[in-house]
Amino acid sequence: MALTGMQIYKSLPKTNCKDCGVPTCMAFAMQVAAKQRALTDCPHVSEEGKSALSEASAPPQRLIKIGNDGKLFEFGQETVMFRHEEKFHRPAGVAVRVPASLSDADAGKLIDEINKRVFTRVGKDLKVALCAVEIETGDPAARAKLAADKSQAPLILVGSKPEAMKAAVGAVQGQRPLIYKADASNLEAFVEIAAGAKAPLAVAGASLEELADLTSKAKEKTEDLVLAFKGEGGETVRQLTIARRAALRKQFRPFGYPCIVEVEAEQAELETVMASIFAAKYAGIVMVSGVEPWELLPIMVTVQDVFTDPQVPNTVEARLYELGSPGDNAPVLFTTNFSLTYFSVAGEVERSKVPAYVCVVDTEGLGVLNAYAGDKISAEKVVKTIQAQKAADKVKHRKLIIPGLLPIFRAEIEDTSEWKEVVIGPENAREIPAFLQKWPNL
Ligand code: SF4
Repeated sequence: MALTGMQIYKSLPKTNCKDCGVPTCMAFAMQVAAKQRALTDCPHVSEEGKSALSEASAPPQRLIKIGNDGKLFEFGQETVMFRHEEKFHRPAGVAVRVPASLSDADAGKLIDEINKRVFTRVGKDLKVALCAVEIETGDPAARAKLAADKSQAPLILVGSKPEAMKAAVGAVQGQRPLIYKADASNLEAFVEIAAGAKAPLAVAGASLEELADLTSKAKEKTEDLVLAFKGEGGETVRQLTIARRAALRKQFRPFGYPCIVEVEAEQAELETVMASIFAAKYAGIVMVSGVEPWELLPIMVTVQDVFTDPQVPNTVEARLYELGSPGDNAPVLFTTNFSLTYFSVAGEVERSKVPAYVCVVDTEGLGVLNAYAGDKISAEKVVKTIQAQKAADKVKHRKLIIPGLLPIFRAEIEDTSEWKEVVIGPENAREIPAFLQKWPNL
């Protein structure tokens, strides 16, 4: 039976030391009761308390850590089926395969390429989360060591032969790679290797029933398990959904682990589409072969969008931003504090190579049109914001560029502020570079 917050609280040290990241033991107990945290997140809970509470207070899906402090990927401990119910907690990671068929030199070059795949979107860096190195080459230990030395991301060791896996894991001791993967044919040996190395283990079954059976057996020796699925299409989404629902809604412990999906598609485009779908529902890791930016970026964008907290407005600070090194004759624009809007505008201003000032108006995280429709922006508010941000002190001219979607503000701004020449800018951010090329003759 589920424990109440009060029952859990009784077994906590009650020192309110905050080491668990929340202000009080009671607040932490409520989070454990709601299955949002694990009891083990309190480093001070006694062994007695742990044994009394651990099974009943365990989150429905275990948190799994791959790698260590320098290179770490965490996934799992999700609490809801749908993002709008609360939020998804840990963004899915993209893992890129390094095939066994490559020579050491080519494998090294591929890992260098993987390291370089960093994209900046909405102010955040999106990267490849894991390097999935196939170790069943001539020398599994050497291949694992090469990957560990070169990769900036934690490792997945991909293989099916216990001897090769043992050698590879031994070569990267202490690095907690994900051991991928055990099935009915090698479970016992792989469990021994994982338990010995204190590394997480991916387990696959020929069916959901077999998978539940295998994780139940593996759990006797290691709790750090990951459910492994082949990503072949709609059937995979169905299985991922069943496993997630069974864990979260029915507390079905054999499925209480995050999932990894190895995407299998004949065409590169299809691999990208399928990986994006699996990442949205409900893979914690998607393993792909494609390493080109056009193959990886759509998956990462999908992950970023799906895992954004819907309860927190996605905003930037409402202040005056200086892009480039604007002088006293630089253009002045305004936009809203919705992150996507701001970063779209800022990115295009930077692309124009025309240094500029951008005043950001607080619209509670809404884009231009939504802010206008929702009464979160007005000409009066724009004037007050620009005055508070002292944009007029920065430039000699009094020419203000306003978003093309708000031409209606023009007259009121000219009538009520020192900005006597209001220029209606583009409706779309992508038109900003061409528009700014004409500055100051707008
Ligand atoms: Fe209480 Fe443990 Fe959190 Fe400290 S770390 S506040 S003792 S629950």
